[in-house]
Amino acid sequence: MKPITKAIRTRVEQTKEMEHSSPLFLTSSFCYTDAETMRAAFADEIDVNIYSRFSNPTVDEFVQRVCALEGAETGYATASGMSAVFASFMALMKQGDHLLSCNAIFGSTHTVITKILSKYGIDYTYVSATATAEEWKAAIQPNTKMIYLETPTNPGLDILDLQMISNIAKENNILLNVDNCFATPIGQRPIDFGADLVVHSATKWMDGQGRVLGGVVVGEEKLINEIYLFCRSTGPALSPFNAWVLSRSLETLDVRMERHSGNALYLAQQLENHPAITSLKYPFLASHPQHAIAKKQMYNGGGIVCFELKGGLESGKAFLNNLQMLTLTANLGDTRTIASHPASTTHAKLSEAERQAVNITPGLIRISVGLEHKEDILADIVQALEKC
Ligand SMILES: *Cc1c(COP(=O)(O)O)cnc(C)c1O
Repeated sequence: MKPITKAIRTRVEQTKEMEHSSPLFLTSSFCYTDAETMRAAFADEIDVNIYSRFSNPTVDEFVQRVCALEGAETGYATASGMSAVFASFMALMKQGDHLLSCNAIFGSTHTVITKILSKYGIDYTYVSATATAEEWKAAIQPNTKMIYLETPTNPGLDILDLQMISNIAKENNILLNVDNCFATPIGQRPIDFGADLVVHSATKWMDGQGRVLGGVVVGEEKLINEIYLFCRSTGPALSPFNAWVLSRSLETLDVRMERHSGNALYLAQQLENHPAITSLKYPFLASHPQHAIAKKQMYNGGGIVCFELKGGLESGKAFLNNLQMLTLTANLGDTRTIASHPASTTHAKLSEAERQAVNITPGLIRISVGLEHKEDILADIVQALEKC
């Protein structure tokens, strides 16, 4: 079976009611018929549910579906993307270890790496999103335990070469952990290029409708087991209700991403030469600096388009103020198209130099392209650009 078929057809075991849609197991704990079965369950001698902080059938269905899509052995679902990222760090690194990452990563992940891991004696080094193989190799230390990266990066849309970095990780016996939130497993499967772990904020494209928070980490069984043991004691478990919502959403992820990326490519092509825009980035446009890498490792260009306004910071604010349909909100990966201006919002606390280092220019606009008709999305952007 193809991954999408397997994902759609994977479900919790049908109950005696013979329901077609998966039931929602909204329960904190599970029962035993007798003392001996309960003893065996707690002794890990039989594989049954105990408590929803450990496992829950609805949550497991969501995890198994993500595994089918990513080509992963197993996984664990968490309450948010950040708890998945954090658990993948804390379960697999210890005091004295070193993390190698890229400076173009999600803001809260940057905070975890620079401000929280340091409290536990875990050191880090960043390379740039466009670092060469030599630069990656030069940043490796004898105690480097993990390489962590995102591609495409947020919001710069740089593409990191998964095969190249995975080869370096393998040669040096380092784990490769990839945040695949932006591409989704429909757009890119990091495990096919040798990644050991894949983390997701399921809050974004996986949910796809801006309703619930969720996260998941998938990968090799022995690594996931460490993460599971960490999470079952520390408690970032995903709510069964959110898992039920997310699991239904995965059934349409393939068709949604096809339309999101189709709309995004159309917008990118139509806006590329607009006079109010100095540059526009989309991985599947020939003008993208890492277009060849994108074509090698991605099935589509994803749903995010970025462009730079000629007028800088003031134009960025004017653009947002003149939009009539597009939403101004912090989320991405929704049915509704979202516009954001990182320099005045998500990245406003950074210094000018820090923003420059991760390609966040004053006039940068990020569009999370929705499922509205492509001509309506374009029309709203064009009318707002005319007023910048
Ligand atoms: C949103 C996001 C996260 C964090 O996910 P939450 O579900 O908000 O905790 C991590 N990585 C990327 C790339 C994101 O966009």
